[in-house]
Amino acid sequence: MESPIAHVVILPFPAQGHIKPMLILAELLTQLAAFKITFLNNEHNHRRIDKSAASRRRINFISIPDGLPPDHPRTGSSVIDLFFTISTASGPYLKNLIASMSQPPTCIICDGIMSFAIDLAAELGIPAITFRTYSATCTWTYFHLQKLIQNGEIPVLEGNEDMDKQISCIPGLENIMRRRDLPHICRLEPENKVLQFYITQTSKMTKASALILNTFEELESPIISHLKSIFPTIYTIGPLHTALKHNTIDTTNGPYNSFSLIKTDKSGLEWLDSQKPNSVLYVSFGSVISLSREQLMEFWYGLVNSGKLFLWAIRPDLVWDENESGQAPEELKMGTRERGRIVGWVAQEEVLAHNAVGGFLTHSGWNSTLESISFGKPMICWPRIADQQVNSMCVSEMWKVGFDMKEICDRSTVEKLVRDLMEGRAEEIVKSTDEIARLAQGSVRDGGSSNRNIKKLIQDIKLLHSTNGASRRST
Ligand code: UDP
Repeated sequence: MESPIAHVVILPFPAQGHIKPMLILAELLTQLAAFKITFLNNEHNHRRIDKSAASRRRINFISIPDGLPPDHPRTGSSVIDLFFTISTASGPYLKNLIASMSQPPTCIICDGIMSFAIDLAAELGIPAITFRTYSATCTWTYFHLQKLIQNGEIPVLEGNEDMDKQISCIPGLENIMRRRDLPHICRLEPENKVLQFYITQTSKMTKASALILNTFEELESPIISHLKSIFPTIYTIGPLHTALKHNTIDTTNGPYNSFSLIKTDKSGLEWLDSQKPNSVLYVSFGSVISLSREQLMEFWYGLVNSGKLFLWAIRPDLVWDENESGQAPEELKMGTRERGRIVGWVAQEEVLAHNAVGGFLTHSGWNSTLESISFGKPMICWPRIADQQVNSMCVSEMWKVGFDMKEICDRSTVEKLVRDLMEGRAEEIVKSTDEIARLAQGSVRDGGSSNRNIKKLIQDIKLLHSTNGASRRST
């Protein structure tokens, strides 16, 4: 007998910043619609993901091969290796897995850089929805990579005076985007295989029946309209972490479900409890990028010299140092003891939600940006790779919720920007930060744009389920 509930297979790219929003979506679909969910991870992350939380007991976690040897680190910049192994290794496996499922999937929701699954779904007659874990603005920019090559805008040469030249071939971003704001891959030669990977993946996304984005209508409306010329159906359902909190029926996993693949260090939270409202700058550079020891020192001096309080989350592999780490100068150690805390990987949402935190020095990953936006914390952005250059442009030029350091990384710039942000002189920024946070919260409440879109996504999946069932019965 046909199951009365839909079955959704979810396939993220195996990295923290991709798994988190897709796992939140999985939880929303089980909690709001009681769908059956199969969530696929490579073995490496399958072992690390917290499957015991009550909210996840109804999700079926399955591991799939990723084509890399077991001892490959799969962290930092080495995650790129997965681009070239995962489709060949997991494609045939996935095909057999789906064929053996007792309930065939109603649809597959796959990551925008796992587009091989769209081809596979087409082969198996299953609808595919693509989930791009970037902003709408960056997704739109990626659709213009080929055009940027044709116009000779790629490669962007770092340090070149042309870095400030406006980009004119991306509708909607004509008077905003400069060459330095283009995604990091635009610094590569046109024939580079990573750049080519993104061009292919982005173009293949268009074969999906719809696009899911972790953003909200009020934040990126003009660009979302442009994207509708490519995808007639777009579900903007973010900020997903806020949506989960708003809709969560099952709270046994705690209010700040960190969705971390790394064990969290809670020691900074107690220290935050003893600080005044808006007095602490939170510093983190996400799960992928690394810093040279020299860059670490510039940030450290900048933070200590600013005289402001700071909480710095340093994950174990953040600092890339070929030689040896060396000792920190005594003045830095003392400045940190007096005004700061250096901790490991934190529950970032809990930190950003804390009222002692008044700002965020970030690498501008999309999840971090959205989290900061929804908790109303202004940002200082130091973008390095992937979509981060585009996000930092949006933060400073479009939404006016922070400062963009771009390539600069010296102690005096850090010191000045930290003071400007924390001393409340950046009045315009504080005002827009409050306003955008209000819009973000509103979008996930009943009747808000993202709330309506989540409901629409659920309805559409239910419709697919009943249509699939009817067509199976008639054959
Ligand atoms: N994060 C965390 N603890 C940390 C640092 C980051 O929980 O100490 C989380 C953060 O909340 C975010 C994700 O890791 O959801 C990082 O994703 P993002 O897109 O910002 O950057 P990426 O790691 O992909 O570069």
